[in-house]
Amino acid sequence: MSKKDIFQKILKKPASVSVEEVAWVLEDDSLNEPLFEIADEVRNLYLGKDVYLRGIIEFSNYCRNDCLYCGIRSSNSKVSRYRMSVDEILNTAKFIAENGCGTVVLQSGEDPFYNDEMIAEIVHRIKKLDVAVTLSIGERSFKEYKTWREAGADRYLMRHETADEELYKQVHPADDFNIRKRHLEMLKQLDYEVGTGCIVGLPHQDDLSLAKDILFTYEFDSDMVGIGPFIPHPDTPLGKEKPGSLMKTLKVIALTRLFLPDSNIPATTALGTIDPRGRQLALNCGANVIMPNFTPVFYRPRFTIYPNKVCIFESDAQCRDSIKDLIETAGYKAVESQGFRRRVHENSSRRI
Ligand code: SF4
Repeated sequence: MSKKDIFQKILKKPASVSVEEVAWVLEDDSLNEPLFEIADEVRNLYLGKDVYLRGIIEFSNYCRNDCLYCGIRSSNSKVSRYRMSVDEILNTAKFIAENGCGTVVLQSGEDPFYNDEMIAEIVHRIKKLDVAVTLSIGERSFKEYKTWREAGADRYLMRHETADEELYKQVHPADDFNIRKRHLEMLKQLDYEVGTGCIVGLPHQDDLSLAKDILFTYEFDSDMVGIGPFIPHPDTPLGKEKPGSLMKTLKVIALTRLFLPDSNIPATTALGTIDPRGRQLALNCGANVIMPNFTPVFYRPRFTIYPNKVCIFESDAQCRDSIKDLIETAGYKAVESQGFRRRVHENSSRRI
């Protein structure tokens, strides 16, 4: 089989594609152009030119975990920690709903200060604004996930980070990939739309390792997949490592689009951070979501999972307008829809 035939194989018989075949595509840059073209075609065919906007509120930068790559890890004493009050969160959510975003994303470190009742109350009140609510607040108990689902939360983002078990252990020494998988399965059981995703360019990660990420998101049948480059944060143990590459990240996005034609794939802020054209290029390679940051500007520079994030100092209105321009310039259309996954692909039944 020629390497180009692999694209047809992924589209027609994705379950039969091996991890080695995916790695071939990742390592061969002569395939980039046809790969990006076909990913854009698939995205247009299944999802059209619409780009969903999801407004993020980074409401706490406290975290009990210590992931080696993350700037707000618990052992980084240089971080100026903050927690937004319930009123601040609700006012920001209202602004998001009034500004053309159909989804409010509540994101934080793993911060048990916000207990099950507080999060349920916040979700319940945001749902009255007629928006979808996404939680991205880390690993919690089944009971908490259930309470929040019952309060109206629609989606849960929990990147799997890397599906390479050894690499997962290296960057999360106190954790285990199988635990992460169990949490993702719990969320699916509760009928959330579940988002996974990975970091591209971690130290010691190779193409086989990235191929495992792509196959994991396919086998899990992820409703959303967030894929961003590794950006070293100077105040972490990985601060002196090389960043992930734009091209490799685009390839992982494009291949993911072939495996999951109807899933939602964001053009991540991290891509816009390593290259000013990063998010436009991602839209051209299969991405269909952008997540403008509405965290109040006073807090925004303190949510530094990685450094030099774009849109840190822009006002909310500037951030929203620059994102709408970016989408139109790339040839797409920003839409206000809540942007649920539209299951139109025959392979979209659950596999795990
Ligand atoms: S990546 Fe998430 S869980 Fe890990 S330290 Fe950072 S905020 Fe905490």
